[in-house]
Amino acid sequence: MTVKKTRIIFLGPPGSGKGTQAQLISKKFRIPHISTGEIFRKIISTNKPQKLASAIKKYVQNGLLVPDEIVFRALKSVLDTNGKFLLDGYPRNIKQAQLLDDYLGDNGIDIVIYFKVPDKEIIKRLTARRTCPKCGRVYNIYTLKPKKDNLCDVCNVKLIIRQDDKVTTVKKRLKIYKEDTMPLVEYYKKRNLLVEINANDTVDNVYNSVVKILEK
Ligand code: AMP
Repeated sequence: MTVKKTRIIFLGPPGSGKGTQAQLISKKFRIPHISTGEIFRKIISTNKPQKLASAIKKYVQNGLLVPDEIVFRALKSVLDTNGKFLLDGYPRNIKQAQLLDDYLGDNGIDIVIYFKVPDKEIIKRLTARRTCPKCGRVYNIYTLKPKKDNLCDVCNVKLIIRQDDKVTTVKKRLKIYKEDTMPLVEYYKKRNLLVEINANDTVDNVYNSVVKILEK
């Protein structure tokens, strides 16, 4: 399967499901999925490179944005400026968008899909995650429950709420999203690149909307 639009940005609040959709779309249309959040989580969990891991840890774990220069360096190391890409979690502010525009030059972005979800739903989704402190397996109290209440299926250990999934951190992430990231909606709207979708729906329905937009 091919689509016309292959240089894509997924924009939306944390918990809007853009990561899930990015994985599905990337697989279906063979478009490289670039998630800066995933890059950072990997650096932190492997502690490699060590200096970078310790520099970014405090930001990620507290729901704060990693400084623009660090993020842009990480992005450049994986982005093929002449190829296809699906950016998930980048840009997060106007400065990052400008850095990307300058870097891509004339051969720019085809489309920005904005995943719209009400705040209440986001808080519900983000605080539903539970993690096994031993093996790292992730559960969801609504959609992916453990077999025994609050115990890991594999380790039988009590599940925890990760620091960045706690209500206070989630609210902080949402505040930062509104202040720093929301202005990007206007930024891309002005350039006729933005398409808004209702992401307060099932994974299947959102997926079908995204596919339709990319095929247009
Ligand atoms: P995500 O999985 O996209 O929600 O990202 C997880 C965390 O990684 C965020 O809360 C930030 O701390 C950091 N992060 C990911 N992408 C960016 C970005 N573009 N700019 C700044 N920080 C980022």
